[in-house]
Amino acid sequence: MTDEELLRSRALRVTRPRLATLGALRAEGHLTADSVRSRISGEGGQVSVQAVYDVLTALTNVGLVRRIEPAGSAARYEVRAGDNHHHLVCRGCGAIEDVDCVVGSAPCLQPHSDHGFAIDEAEVTFWGYCPRCQIRSADDTTSTIIDRAGEGQP
Ligand SMILES: [Zn+2]
Ligand SMILES: [Zn+2]
Repeated sequence: MTDEELLRSRALRVTRPRLATLGALRAEGHLTADSVRSRISGEGGQVSVQAVYDVLTALTNVGLVRRIEPAGSAARYEVRAGDNHHHLVCRGCGAIEDVDCVVGSAPCLQPHSDHGFAIDEAEVTFWGYCPRCQIRSADDTTSTIIDRAGEGQP
């Protein structure tokens, strides 16, 4: 399905900002609204941040785009929606990676007690350090010691 067809299938009008936003998110996942806007303007499109927000909200509401908001990060958007995948988030640099659903289809995890809820999704965020930050933190330990030595009196 083309993006035009996707929009129509969700009863959304096909507009330039909507197509440009979908295009930006297909090129790169987990973008903030701001990065979506700079990607669009990098390709010669003119669109305001507010317009991008409006588009992202509309696309999220119809399930074409998924919004994630890891603690401490701005909301991120991606076109990989509806497959119940999860995310790895780096505590160091904020890098986000997709990981496939842990067990089967949504909701892949069932709590012991559902308190009567009809559960349809489990959103899991795995926190840790990406390979680059692991190397960096090994380097940092050394350079911090050197810096401290050169600081003199606090
Ligand atoms: Zn990192
Ligand atoms: Zn993702």
